[in-house]
Amino acid sequence: MIIKPKIRGFICTTAHPAGCAAHVNRQIDYIKDSTAIQGAKKVLVIGASTGYGLASRIAASFGMGADTIGVSFERPASEGRTASAGWYNTVAFERAARAAGYIAESINGDAFSHEMKQETLKLVKEKLGKVDLIVYSVASPRRTHPDTGETFNSVLKPIGQPFTNKTVNTNTGVVSEITLEPATQEEIENTITVMGGEDWSLWLKALEEADLLADGVTTLAYSYIGPEITEAIYRKGTIGQAKNDLEATAHTLTKQLERYHGKAYVSVNKALVTQSSSAIPVVPLYISLLFKVMKEKGLHEGCIEQAQRLFEKLYSGSTVETDEEGRIRLDNWEMREDVQEAVKAAWSEITTENVSERGDLEQYRLDFLQLFGFGFDEIDYELDVDPEVHTH
Ligand code: NAD
Repeated sequence: MIIKPKIRGFICTTAHPAGCAAHVNRQIDYIKDSTAIQGAKKVLVIGASTGYGLASRIAASFGMGADTIGVSFERPASEGRTASAGWYNTVAFERAARAAGYIAESINGDAFSHEMKQETLKLVKEKLGKVDLIVYSVASPRRTHPDTGETFNSVLKPIGQPFTNKTVNTNTGVVSEITLEPATQEEIENTITVMGGEDWSLWLKALEEADLLADGVTTLAYSYIGPEITEAIYRKGTIGQAKNDLEATAHTLTKQLERYHGKAYVSVNKALVTQSSSAIPVVPLYISLLFKVMKEKGLHEGCIEQAQRLFEKLYSGSTVETDEEGRIRLDNWEMREDVQEAVKAAWSEITTENVSERGDLEQYRLDFLQLFGFGFDEIDYELDVDPEVHTH
């Protein structure tokens, strides 16, 4: 099959197996070239197939020498349809990690369900034993509650009043104004149910009950804060409420982990192009302006650079540096005053006519394509490839 990108709005419905492998391998190479870290050795990553979770898994194995189990929810290839990118990424990661001598097992299904947790625990017990790091990096638009069977949908909306700001259609480059209506109370609560901390704590509870937490265990989940430009839709919007809940969960979990001398952290990461962030209105335009500024200042990072920096912060010193709320701040370069001033200045002037010059739409588009395994020079996209790849 010859596989080309098919972009529909902010998703791409195809993915390229060799290109996804190239994406994974580039991240592995970056970690191999970075300083090795003495850190976790038995790692469970929930949401391990793309974005921050995948980068964390790669950095754990190739930077810390860890054995890993990854949980994700991806689609295998079927009847002329390619698998999802996360499926191909997982296969590529497993192959590379195993070839390097690390245990790498993956499990595919709904992490929110009790069944999936139990299946994962079985695998953890069999392959890893007690875990010393659990990374929770699930991003999902919906969650079926494991106790009630009710399905909740998250929304990306402001709270209290409508929000109007600039946005860009990243496919056409057209900059326009968008008005987003505020969420209802029910939508706010549902978003917290999907993207808040409940599932993270259910995972920790299940691991504790199965006696799979090692002494000194660490658990991590990821959050975002961002600037004033995106505040109404992000930090003060529905997703921000869910992130507040996630951050509060870290404190509760830390108390629960005291008997293991363990800690739960939220790491506030940088805004990046991932399948999840491209779905948020206004954010892609902000990201493309941010990329331009951060590149000019030599501060540009992707998921893998952030994952490496995170593990350095976590494991390299005797204490972990946090803000007053106890969060690890990997967004410190994004939020630097000079960076934000430059983005703000560009934002006020940005139009369809100057977006390619004032922003880095090209990098945004390339990053987006690469999420699905396209846009890699080393791959011949005219070659016939088998979309069905498996590890087992
Ligand atoms: P992503 O879409 O790239 O990854 C989501 C992961 O969750 C995938 O591995 C997917 O398979 C998995 N997943 C989704 N639903 C699942 C389910 N029901 N069961 C099992 N696995 C499931 O997202 P991302 O951008 O890497 O986001 C990960 C975390 O990082 C989120 O908490 C997000 O808010 C946070 N974050 C993202 C950014 C950003 O700019 N992208 C910035 C800061 C923080």
